[in-house]
Amino acid sequence: MKHITVLGATGSIGLSTLDVISRHPDKYTVFALTANRNVDEMLKQCRLFKPMYAVMSDEQAAELLEKSIFELSLDIKVLSGQSGLEYVAGHKGSDTVMSAIVGAAGLKPTLSAVYAGKRILLANKEALVMSGALFMAAAKAAGAEILPIDSEHNAIFQCMPADYRSGMPLKHIRRILLTASGGPFRTTPLDELKSVTPQQACKHPNWSMGRKISVDSASMMNKGLELIEACWLFDTTPDNVDVHVHPESIIHSMVEYDDGSVLAQMGSPDMRTPIAYGLSWPERIDSGVSSLDLFKIAQLNFEKPDEERFPCLRLAAEAYRRGGTACAILNAANEVAVDAFLSNTLRFDQIPTVIEQVMDLLPEIPATDLSQIFEADEAARIAAANLISQGL
Ligand code: NDP
Repeated sequence: MKHITVLGATGSIGLSTLDVISRHPDKYTVFALTANRNVDEMLKQCRLFKPMYAVMSDEQAAELLEKSIFELSLDIKVLSGQSGLEYVAGHKGSDTVMSAIVGAAGLKPTLSAVYAGKRILLANKEALVMSGALFMAAAKAAGAEILPIDSEHNAIFQCMPADYRSGMPLKHIRRILLTASGGPFRTTPLDELKSVTPQQACKHPNWSMGRKISVDSASMMNKGLELIEACWLFDTTPDNVDVHVHPESIIHSMVEYDDGSVLAQMGSPDMRTPIAYGLSWPERIDSGVSSLDLFKIAQLNFEKPDEERFPCLRLAAEAYRRGGTACAILNAANEVAVDAFLSNTLRFDQIPTVIEQVMDLLPEIPATDLSQIFEADEAARIAAANLISQGL
């Protein structure tokens, strides 16, 4: 029996994780669940999965949850705040931690699980983008197993030799082919991008996801973050990772070997497949995902990414090349810009402008400890918010 903690249990990845877990009561039990403010969903999950701990990041939400748990006479400890998240993430009562908090808020709890040497199912790509070198070094030192959940990185991992582990140097591999759907605005006329709405940006053609990653997919910053993520997970550089726009999202990524063989992992665009693989690796379990109907799909298409349309991809590669705190700066500026777009205070086409200006304003420094990462993150948030409030 594996004991699972789900960080970000009320989100899109959290719900899919609990769906897979619920299909295998003989294999998995839930140790702890965490969320930010969604008390109703957390209470529902507590009744169903009866974890030892439930954590609400928001203090008021935690009080509400605690009251309801008491009224229902459930034997669940309710914790709150950052300390509560870090406590359950590192608690020895679980062996596996699903890291599915969105954004930089996921970094400290994920690191807590890393320091405790657990199996980490890494969906929260922002954690790795912000602190790549320190994160991977900490995982190595603590013996933590990092299993990528992002569908592309999970696909790449599945195409690696059986003895491959995250962070190991690549052997006999020419390049990684990272696929991208191109998002909802792949063919939208460029001059219309300035007037697209949050609702349009969050309507992904293939995947159903949380709002932040949906906007990232629409701007292709998601692919930029994934490019950085791939470099850390597979010990490579952007020169060895080719982004291929593949609008059907059936091939989730590919690996090309020295002999010319290209291995691809395919499947329906449903996150329960990579989640099930992470939970059961190196075995396989039923994920609830239906079989792929290739006759129905009939055609798979590939295009080069349009750099004029998607400048975020270039900015992410540039941040990786600059190194040090540059990726933390890129990530923080993007989070602030996406929030502003979602609350209608920034145009969609201004997201890359904010990021580029923040990267120019704040020169990166080498990141030798986490405090430098958090300082860079904070400075970039302030700079981005100032630029947005001043109208850029
Ligand atoms: P959602 O927005 O759907 O869910 C986010 C989760 O994090 C919720 O449980 C939310 O709680 C919690 N949360 C939000 N802010 C905080 C905070 N400040 N402190 C603690 N918890 C917080 O996101 P997704 O599930 O879509 O994405 C999660 C992560 O997985 C992201 O990093 C994303 O990039 C990555 N990912 C997602 C994919 C997808 O298909 N959705 C695919 C690949 C990667 P509450 O509900 O209470 O707000």
